Amino acid sequence: MPRTSSSTISSACLSLAISTALRATSIVSRLYTPVTEDWNNIISQPQSSRRDILYRMAGLLFGTAGIPLSTWPQTTINGINRVAELGLDCMELEFVQGVYLKEEDAIPVADAAQKAGIRLSAHAPYFLNFNAHEPRKLRASQGILFKAAHIASICGAGNVVFHAGFYLGDPPQETYQTIKKYLAEVVTKLKEEDIRLWLRPEASGKGSQFGSLEEILELCAELEGAAPCIDFAHLHARTGKFNSYPEFTSVLEQVRERLGDNALKNLHLHISGIEFSAKGERRHLELQESDLQYNELLRALRDYDAGGTVICESPNQEEDALLLKSSFNAISPNK
Ligand SMILES: [Zn+2]
Repeated sequence: MPRTSSSTISSACLSLAISTALRATSIVSRLYTPVTEDWNNIISQPQSSRRDILYRMAGLLFGTAGIPLSTWPQTTINGINRVAELGLDCMELEFVQGVYLKEEDAIPVADAAQKAGIRLSAHAPYFLNFNAHEPRKLRASQGILFKAAHIASICGAGNVVFHAGFYLGDPPQETYQTIKKYLAEVVTKLKEEDIRLWLRPEASGKGSQFGSLEEILELCAELEGAAPCIDFAHLHARTGKFNSYPEFTSVLEQVRERLGDNALKNLHLHISGIEFSAKGERRHLELQESDLQYNELLRALRDYDAGGTVICESPNQEEDALLLKSSFNAISPNK
């Protein structure tokens, strides 16, 4: 499959994003005042040594994919305050249709999250494809992921989730190598600009979309600064499996084997119900309308002493996030 060689790609999009980003670099450094001391410890380390640091978090944090539905007016800052009011812990900024915050809007978001004690992550736009066949689309994917990571970092977010791409008929191994190559260039730029956050390639919900659990774990093992976003609804929809205690623990075992014990303390998970067909995911469902054995999943997470963030993508996001949090606490009353 002919492709432009990576070394010759001069990325106009990426350069533009970076020049814009540079203007805020001093602001970014000043804003690295994350929510907890532990978070501060890990995020202040260079990308290269973060994987080796024990990420001691107080168990799992639970929150919503985007601004809670019960927020009015629907602004990001109101969303953060609503998450806190609900008794939840974290919120994912939904940049899925575009990175909707400007630098100057991101600064008050960081302040609000810090004041409310809410940990932020971000979800990059859906239309990325690091296996695109057109160089223009590859460059756009790089530029957009860089921009999402940059704005997320100004918001004080520690994780940026993204969908890495589609096979487009290419063999999975070739797709993997292509995605790794173009992502590595983004990692290099993030390092050069000292933008520190975890890149979180997400396990996908469709067989046509790159992102089996194995592929994601392999990518994270090979790519500095990357850690998995494990979407349990997607794992279930992609295969019809992953819906019992032994299957959930097998996922955590694979994370441990491939990325080490510390990766289990630094998870970023998506949990919701899901409707799916033989082709994979159709739509997210409320947990209690779905077949997802979430109590078994929470028990597996508790038994492995998992740490990190759980983002609920159910249509009733805050209700299901609260259901997950209370169910987890009922299993593990000391956390
Ligand atoms: Zn996603």
